[in-house]
Amino acid sequence: MEPEVIRDKDSMRKWSRAMRSQGKTIGLVPTMGYLHEGHLSLVRQSLTLTDVTVVSIYVNPGQFSPTEDLSTYPSDFSGDLTKLAALSGGKVVVFNPKNLYDYGGETKKINDGGGGGGRVVSCVEEGGLGHETWIRVERLEKGLCGKSRPVFFRGVATIVTKLFNIVEPDVAVFGKKDYQQWRIIQRMVRDLDFGIEIVGSDIARERDGLAMSSRNVRLSDEERQRALSISRSLAMAKASVAEGKTSSAELKEMIIQQVVGSAGRVDYVEIVDQETLEGVEEIKSGVVICVAAWFGTVRLIDNIEIDVSL
Ligand code: AMP
Repeated sequence: MEPEVIRDKDSMRKWSRAMRSQGKTIGLVPTMGYLHEGHLSLVRQSLTLTDVTVVSIYVNPGQFSPTEDLSTYPSDFSGDLTKLAALSGGKVVVFNPKNLYDYGGETKKINDGGGGGGRVVSCVEEGGLGHETWIRVERLEKGLCGKSRPVFFRGVATIVTKLFNIVEPDVAVFGKKDYQQWRIIQRMVRDLDFGIEIVGSDIARERDGLAMSSRNVRLSDEERQRALSISRSLAMAKASVAEGKTSSAELKEMIIQQVVGSAGRVDYVEIVDQETLEGVEEIKSGVVICVAAWFGTVRLIDNIEIDVSL
């Protein structure tokens, strides 16, 4: 049976509170839809941890800059419902709000009226939607994806906070595919005392190793083949560490060579501490190797955790 769909935030909050009053625990899996096995693995994990799971499907304009791919982000809402219907093991509802930045009444443009006047803005400000409160996790949001996407994590932390306040979950599950995002949400929850357990779930991959992503559908067959250089070079780097190579510079160079050799455009390759996300020169303790690269018009990210105590 297809899951119930809740479209507005008041009904969502009411539903959650009704569940809570029945003594049920609530899980939340935030997504932007076009669901694949990676998303479904998060939902399954949530179902094992809680009585009922809310899957939010909402493409958040607050995390896209006006030059990014908000308008071409793939969607297939009825397909998403069919995939969720096939899951067993607990109750799932879908929260699919139209616009979480519409506060009713007349929309007043703020400050420069959108467009930003030279400021870094998201599609929310560009649309002049009048929203002006943002959550920033100041240090963790700066590196990795934050460098080339300056409004991204501000938008993510803000929308996740909004979802937490609307759904009031006990547990929220995030994919380690978006490693920095997961760490940022964990830190935000700790720093702001949200009473929510944050769970990080392993990366789901295609058979050939490509990390699953809604954006993969926009790769041509040839680009998709070439994009395998990311997961392959990450796996090789991990094997090299196991053989005793610990120099970050050498490992990063090896990955860059492979991605560039497959005609990818590297945004970054970084080897960072798993908790602080600060770069390390020599691998001595738990690190994660993070890659972002463009194939054609598609920006892909992937990572691999390496747990060592040398
Ligand atoms: P998105 O719809 O891309 O915003 O992703 C929603 C959630 O699914 C995030 O917590 C992602 O980290 C997670 N996710 C996306 N792709 C994967 C994957 N391949 N494996 C595990 N989790 C994923």
